[in-house]
Amino acid sequence: MDALMLDGNAVAGLLQEVFAVEMTTAIATCSACDAAGAIGATQVFRGAGVVLSCPHCGNVLATIVEADTRMWMGLGGIRTLQMAMDLGSGPSGGRHRSA
Ligand SMILES: [Zn+2]
Repeated sequence: MDALMLDGNAVAGLLQEVFAVEMTTAIATCSACDAAGAIGATQVFRGAGVVLSCPHCGNVLATIVEADTRMWMGLGGIRTLQMAMDLGSGPSGGRHRSA
């Protein structure tokens, strides 16, 4: 492992700013090797921005760049992203599904 490389849990706060749900437990499917795993288990490289890579094949799953009041996010390496929805919290009692 490179000294500058962390895992996806290192950017939990950043991801929570982008997505309103817990993202480290979201399941991403790699568009290159079809491996599915938690965002928290991805490889994270920091530089001018953040790069999340597939721990199985090294494919770039996502890139995040922040500057002043803007953020750029690329999700080109993620085929699908599965997130748990919190249906029971929030000011309006959460989201409701009609059966
Ligand atoms: Zn992969």
